Amino acid sequence: MELSDFILDSCKVTPGFEFYPKKNKKIDVKELIKHLTKEGYYISKDNSPFYIHVKIKEGEMTIFSSLKIIIKDLTDEDKAKKIVSDLLILINKSLLVKWITMKNKENILVSACLLGVNCTYNQSNNLNKKIIALSKTSNLIPICPEQLGGLPTPRTPSEIIGNKVITCKGEDVTKNYKFGAKETLKIAKEFNCKKAIFKFRSPSCGSNLIYDGTFSHKLKKGDGITTKLLKKNGIKVISEKEYI
Ligand code: SF4
Repeated sequence: MELSDFILDSCKVTPGFEFYPKKNKKIDVKELIKHLTKEGYYISKDNSPFYIHVKIKEGEMTIFSSLKIIIKDLTDEDKAKKIVSDLLILINKSLLVKWITMKNKENILVSACLLGVNCTYNQSNNLNKKIIALSKTSNLIPICPEQLGGLPTPRTPSEIIGNKVITCKGEDVTKNYKFGAKETLKIAKEFNCKKAIFKFRSPSCGSNLIYDGTFSHKLKKGDGITTKLLKKNGIKVISEKEYI
């Protein structure tokens, strides 16, 4: 893989750059973490089997298993290209680029917090052992739309008010929620997921019932931003409540 094998775009949510491989590639994220660590890269603990956050001098780099690379908080294009070139040397050297073959099981998208990932607004999780037990019969694909939308962890809690998503401090974060929803849909399509099991009440993952926008734990009818987009695209979204 060379830099010329990538399409360069500007980052959608913050200053920075996104690199998309021109051809479909898959990397083994676990393997890559091992090699990056060995080379002295600082890996954040906040990772999943599908992406890695790497702290770099200039900001932060996220490497997805699809080999999409996002560099946040950087405005110098040449520096971004150099960072990605260095990373590609390591990937090529380690022969890490390979297709990940999924076993012959159904792929189900699951809210990462339900699988024990500390990705909630207060850097905690909603571990649900009954859902984890489904991994015996299905490939569970962890996804946190709010992190994919570029929001930090921990973050200020938000609720849906009208057509917008607003934090309890009044900040409009709709753009992040919509971006996270689109990224989630891309992953769902990539893994041909027909079903998602999502966290109850969340402004991203909630299904049928969500918080009412008053930050008082009251509920109203409606779907989270990601749930709405997945349903619109024919993906069945099931609330974790069905597994409690
Ligand atoms: S966005 Fe979804 S996966 Fe992420 S913390 Fe909220 S409920 Fe969990």
